Amino acid sequence: MTDSKPQFRIGNGYDIHRLVPGRSLILGGVTLLHPDGLGLDGHSDADVLTHAVMDALLGALSLGDIGKYFPPDDPKWRGADSLLLLEKVVSLINESGWRVLNIDAVVVAERPKLKPHIECMRKNLSERLGVDFDAVGVKATTNECLGPEGREEGISSQAVALLGRL
Ligand code: MG
Repeated sequence: MTDSKPQFRIGNGYDIHRLVPGRSLILGGVTLLHPDGLGLDGHSDADVLTHAVMDALLGALSLGDIGKYFPPDDPKWRGADSLLLLEKVVSLINESGWRVLNIDAVVVAERPKLKPHIECMRKNLSERLGVDFDAVGVKATTNECLGPEGREEGISSQAVALLGRL
């Protein structure tokens, strides 16, 4: 008799944070320098890429979103390192009987140039996700000067995650 339970689950995540003066710009755990000194506003470290990845993981198992686990009105998460939050989400996924197979993400940012930092972001994420480096795709694109990302009002990110049953 074959096991009729699904062996795979897929999830998608999206996030956007405002670009403001006086904040760090952290993407995938990498601190970047914006040419105008801007960074991402938020309750945690506002790492929009890692947030999109976490929401993709939670979404794959219909576990809600990161606001449910790390509420922005909880002082405990003020300035939190999002890579540590990602570790907690991965633990939850594993405790639920699933493991991460691969991730694909895109960051939409007009500036700074992300390409030189993509490998470091992939390394940070893959270590926290417990997967091989080549199981984490991170791409960067500008928004061709269109919309909030194009006007540098913010940086957004989208991610998909594939999980396999443990
Ligand atoms: Mg966020």
